[in-house]
Amino acid sequence: MTQTAPTPSPTAFPPPETIHVTDHRVACDGGGGALGHPRVFLELGEAGQATCPYCDRLFVLDGERH
Ligand SMILES: [Zn+2]
Repeated sequence: MTQTAPTPSPTAFPPPETIHVTDHRVACDGGGGALGHPRVFLELGEAGQATCPYCDRLFVLDGERH
């Protein structure tokens, strides 16, 4: 069967934020409030970035540490 991509949400999600952090391990809870979600810990790893599976925020390792 052929289906066109559904557009379920009348209201688009806000564009994901990019959060600059200085640690390889960060916690995200969506910022709290109505947009919050259960707190998750993200490992930035070697790539130096990770995306929150809940709110799609992109965490980017910032800084000059080696
Ligand atoms: Zn999040």
